[in-house]
Amino acid sequence: MGREGIDVIDMRKPIPISEAIGRLMAHVPASRVETAALADSFGRVLAEPVVARDDMPPFHRAAYDGYAIRSEDTAPAGAVFRVVGRIGAGDVFAGELGPGEAVRIMTGAPLPSGADAVVMLEQAVQEADGRSFAVRKAFRAWENVSLRGEDVRAGETVVEPGTVVSPGVVALLAAFGYAEVRVARRPLVGVIATGSELVGRHEPLAPGKIRDSNGPMIAAQLARLGIPARSYGIVRDDPDLCLDRVRRALAETDCVITTGGASVGDFDWLPAICERLGARVLFNKVAMRPGSVTTAAVLDGKMLFGLSGNPSACYVGFEIFARPALLSMMGCRKPYPAYARAVLAGDYPKANPFTRFVRAVYRHDGHRPVVASAGFDKSNAVGSLARSNALMVLPGGTRGFRKGTEVDVLLPGAEEGEAEWRIREA
Ligand code: AMP
Ligand code: MG
Repeated sequence: MGREGIDVIDMRKPIPISEAIGRLMAHVPASRVETAALADSFGRVLAEPVVARDDMPPFHRAAYDGYAIRSEDTAPAGAVFRVVGRIGAGDVFAGELGPGEAVRIMTGAPLPSGADAVVMLEQAVQEADGRSFAVRKAFRAWENVSLRGEDVRAGETVVEPGTVVSPGVVALLAAFGYAEVRVARRPLVGVIATGSELVGRHEPLAPGKIRDSNGPMIAAQLARLGIPARSYGIVRDDPDLCLDRVRRALAETDCVITTGGASVGDFDWLPAICERLGARVLFNKVAMRPGSVTTAAVLDGKMLFGLSGNPSACYVGFEIFARPALLSMMGCRKPYPAYARAVLAGDYPKANPFTRFVRAVYRHDGHRPVVASAGFDKSNAVGSLARSNALMVLPGGTRGFRKGTEVDVLLPGAEEGEAEWRIREA
């Protein structure tokens, strides 16, 4: 790319991660709303609240198998009840329960009119006639009964818009008869791998070549968020080819993520591509390791991310920037990766000026949550990515970190994320 490109690079000033995120989140375009069938709602971001359409449960019902009775009849010690009927879940008892009467009832069946307690099967002492039983204790009103509306009241907002539909939310939607629900349209994301050294997964390796692992990895990171990816293949290091491919991808998708060609050197396309496209660059250097040469830009309501080709930098850049931007585009209220604290299981003597995200294993050692590096931790390492379930955060500074120090941890694979960016940088 010659002198021009290098001038742009020289101008790069690293900004704090939180500032980069702030700029990004202030420029996120809003995605449209569409309707999803209940069966397709899992993983979508709700665009409407889930409002209880009925009381839940919708009637007083037996919490256990046993006998429905009138609690007042249990006042005399050893009271005896006569079984006058039997109802299963889904049935309704026709009559009104009289004094000393009981109805054999199954879990989930509505209490007969007049009844206000359930004697659990194991609390009933059967009489010899086979049609009566005695109780040994007095029952309180509503004992062993699930009260109408005790779980959720009709009209109550049970889930806020902006929530990602979990299996539990699916259960609520189903319980309240939502056959379909309003959700955010998912952005389509175009993924482009750049680098003359890259070959696809079906091609043999040749001297000097490596396989593109970032493209498929980004597609999987998107899939984890329920976002579809479209691959725009591999482009060799040629500014015009890269520009063409980015332009085509931008025309056909809502967001384009490129990987490679992002390190400081001659083959650093993104800043120049953004300039030629007329895209507004939000940042192109961030005070973090790895992933410091991450670029984010916006153009005509679309987003463009230029992630480093280094696999770990690419992974981290996606989770720290692309993830919250894309989730927030869909109105998600918790777009950031889940946050935890844990103590270091080893020493990290390496001093570093910038906040470092280390691929790590987060677990509970029986006493407390601990976190350890997932191994070989150079930014071009792929192996440690596969072993890690977390990113541990070592704040920037000149000192190293000792075993036992408590640190921030990000858990990108957790079901629910955070509403705020909580990492401390210095
Ligand atoms: P770059 O950002 O182009 O300077 O690439 C930095 C390092 O990441 C180089 O060692 C590249 O070979 C490697 N790399 C670039 N793109 C990919 C990719 N798609 N998959 C795996 N490694 C890559
Ligand atoms: Mg390259």
